[in-house]
Order: sequence, then C-alpha cells, then structure tokens
Amino acid sequence: MASTDDKGRAPCVAILSAVLDMEYLAVAFREAHPGIDLRLGEELGALDQIEAVVCWFPPHGLLARMPKLRLVQSLAAGIEHIPADAELPRQVPLCRIVDTGMAAGMKAYVCWAVVQQHRGMRAYVASSAARRWEEQPIVSPRHHRVGIAGLGTLGMACAEALAAIGYPVRGWSRSAKEALPAGVEGFHGAAQLDEFLSGCDTLVCLLPLTAETHGFLDAALFAKLPRGAHLINVGRGDHLVEADLQPALDAGQLSAATLDAFSQEPLPPDHPFWGDPRILVTPHIATRTDSLVIARQTLDNLASLRQGRRPANQVDLARGY
Ligand code: NAP
Repeated sequence: MASTDDKGRAPCVAILSAVLDMEYLAVAFREAHPGIDLRLGEELGALDQIEAVVCWFPPHGLLARMPKLRLVQSLAAGIEHIPADAELPRQVPLCRIVDTGMAAGMKAYVCWAVVQQHRGMRAYVASSAARRWEEQPIVSPRHHRVGIAGLGTLGMACAEALAAIGYPVRGWSRSAKEALPAGVEGFHGAAQLDEFLSGCDTLVCLLPLTAETHGFLDAALFAKLPRGAHLINVGRGDHLVEADLQPALDAGQLSAATLDAFSQEPLPPDHPFWGDPRILVTPHIATRTDSLVIARQTLDNLASLRQGRRPANQVDLARGY
C-alpha cells in the first residue's frame, strides 16, 4: 500500500463525485492510511499536489487540471461515468474495482432474481399475507435456461452460482471462453448472439456500458428471446431502451422484468415502471463494495504506479471496459 514516496510524502488522494456525498469513503481512506493527505468535496486545495482520484461521476474538466495525476480509480466495477468527461487525461491509468465481496453480492442478487420469478415467490408473499395455503406450479430448474450477457468477472460468478443450483446456464461475451465451468455453455460475438438469445428463458444483462452495448436491450432483442422470457438488468440503465419494455410485456413477449439500474437514478416518481406489477424495481443495490476494499485497492494501485509497476484492473479505454 502507498505509505510515503521516496521524498517521505504521504499519498495525496482526492475523492470526487458530482452526484454523491462521499464522506463515507473518506472514513475508509483514513482508516486504511491514517496519515493520508485526503481531499474531498469543495476543499481540494492545490490541484497540482493530487496524485490519485477515486471517482463516481466526477465533475467534468477537473481531472484535466491535475498535472501530477498518476491514477484515476473508479469506485465501481463499471467506469463509463469517467470517460463521459471529454477532458479526461486519457494517458493516466484508469482502474476499476474487482472484488470477491462485490461478486458475492451480485451472485446472491441474480440467484434471488431468477428464483423469485421462476418459482413465483411474489405470489407466496400475497398468499401468506392472505393466510392462503396455495402452491404455485413448480418447474424444475433443469427446464429453465438462464442466459448471461457479459461473461466477465461478475457474469462468470453468477453463471457458476446458477449452475450450482441446477439451472442450465449459457453466457455471451465478446471473445470466446475456454474451460467454462460445468453446466455453462459459451457463446461469443455478434454472430452467435441470436443463437444465445433463443435459449434464454431468463436473460441477465451484466455487460459494461460501452458505445457497443448502449441500448442492447431493445424490442429487436426481446423478439429473439423465447416467448414469455424474464429480463433481469443488473448492468446499467442505458443498456435498456426503456420505451421498448412495457410494449414487450403487453405483447407477452416478456413476462416480467427485474431491474436494478435505470437511465435516470433515482427513478423519477412519475416513471411508468413504478407500480407495474410485471416490473420489480430495486434501487441500484444488486451489490456494493466495502469502502475499505475501495480504499485499499486505490492505495495499492497508487503504490504500484509510484514504483513504476502496472496497477491492478486497469481498463482498456479504447475498448471501453
Ligand atoms: P467485466 O469483467 O469487464 O466483464 C464484462 C463482460 O462483458 C466480458 O465478458 C466481456 O467480454 C463482455 N462484453 C463487453 N462488451 C461486449 C460486447 N460488445 N459484446 C459481447 N460481450 C461484451 O465486467 P464485470 O466486472 O463483470 O462488470 C460488468 C458490469 O456490471 C459493470 O460494467 C457494471 O455496469 C455492472 N455492475 C452493476 C452493479 C449493480 O449493483 N447493479 C454492480 C457492479 C457492476 P470479454 O470477456 O470477451 O471481454
């Protein structure tokens, strides 16, 4: 971890967000490194002292004014909120968080989302409240195929977890995967997308948001799923063309949607998704990373860069993830 540099200076890290109060993260950084020179909110001090920034939707134009910046760290697995700044200094390494705790949270959410719909669990909430002993049809998981679009760190963890509870799983990625876990079938690239989609009774979106994946979940894609499929979006809100969802539900092409991410967050009070019994809305909580993990990964990456080594989990900006 970055303790002091060769001149004895403590790491100088700024925490930046144009949308969130980041005080909770400051507490973790001070715990991870008590002597840290931490800059937060309006009190950034001299910008030419800042070596690392940890960001969630950073204010645009600010990073370009930090001449000694060595590291841009996303506090999340996704990074699309950072290159949205047209003035981002693209020569500075941009890293994301990869964390087993984050993967564990996502596995739990995705397994819950699949099971609650496939097993009709919401009907039991109603029958329990009404004191009714009432079984829902039980279809073996063997007969319910789950597809995961985005077979990366989180997608692969979810694929293994779903396979372990009996679902036949298929995953779709950009590049071909070798040595997939038992019970997981791989598809890749645009050429195999339709074949992949045709076998998804539930489709889980765990793609990064890039120019290629923006609007991925649209009417044309829904039409390629088996009729009555369940959509789970735990990627980003802009993966979904929101206007296409309710018409696909009305037509019966989709039976339900479980959504954790939205184009506008918080979801506005008058948004048509609220109150639609076919749509389950959760407020971007599928998983979280412990703030101490974010602090430690940032400080470790800064230490690596100070020593001329590559940081962990650096993003390929040209690829977009
Ligand atoms: P990752 O390890 O980078 O994996 C991304 C996967 O998507 C890879 O399999 C990649 O293919 C595939 N992919 C990317 N572009 C593609 C394309 N054009 N066509 C087909 N496949 C494509 O990312 P991760 O850590 O698993 O995270 C995935 C996303 O989850 C994040 O970017 C974020 O948006 C979302 N997320 C949401 C929450 C939440 O609470 N809702 C929390 C954390 C993360 P290759 O394997 O071939 O590279």
